[in-house]
Amino acid sequence: NSFMELNLSRPLLRACEILGYNKPTPIQAACIPLAINGRDICASAITGSGKTAAFALPTLERLLCRAKGTPPAVRVLILTPTRELAVQVHSMVEKLAQFVKDIRCCLVVGGLSTKLQESALRSKPDIVVATPGRMIDHIRNSMSVHLDELAVLILDEADRLLELGFSAEIRELIRECPKRRQTMLFSATMTEEVGELIKLSMNKPMRLSA
Ligand code: AMP
Repeated sequence: NSFMELNLSRPLLRACEILGYNKPTPIQAACIPLAINGRDICASAITGSGKTAAFALPTLERLLCRAKGTPPAVRVLILTPTRELAVQVHSMVEKLAQFVKDIRCCLVVGGLSTKLQESALRSKPDIVVATPGRMIDHIRNSMSVHLDELAVLILDEADRLLELGFSAEIRELIRECPKRRQTMLFSATMTEEVGELIKLSMNKPMRLSA
């Protein structure tokens, strides 16, 4: 019942230590081993359960394992319902990745300069944390921004994403992703609409709750 037993690499274990994470929360203990193996996961988990690290740690681990010399590309897209949550998730990912060399994480939300975000996206960061509307704008408006090499799609607070009316944007973004990818979905409540999104976006997901 420690992070060491979850097969995480040293830079990630060091980050957990510095952040004062002594042992995994239940959702982390359940999610991390499955996610490292590439499984699709849908989890009922609320804020405070440690859900951010539950998806960020295995995702960083998978990025660490990619072959050296792999050309830069957006490999991970994390969608959140609000700008505030995107800022929090981005900051958490940066803290967890602080000892990992050469991983770039970029924030794509409304209210920040479109030009700056566009040049950040053109430079092909490994991880993008975004709100759906702003991400779609970039993909529609720039030929050089695409999700063709995406390996992991994460839908955070899926119930709120749908409540806030992002269903069409999410569907459009899913169509931009390769079929062969890992998808993880986290939601406080499992509504009928969330169920439909799971069916649409996932391949034999493991269901977890915390
Ligand atoms: P979250 O549910 O992802 O919003 O995380 C809630 C809070 O718990 C955040 O402040 C995290 O930094 C913290 N946290 C996440 N995982 C752990 C852990 N294993 N041990 C202690 N704190 C944690």
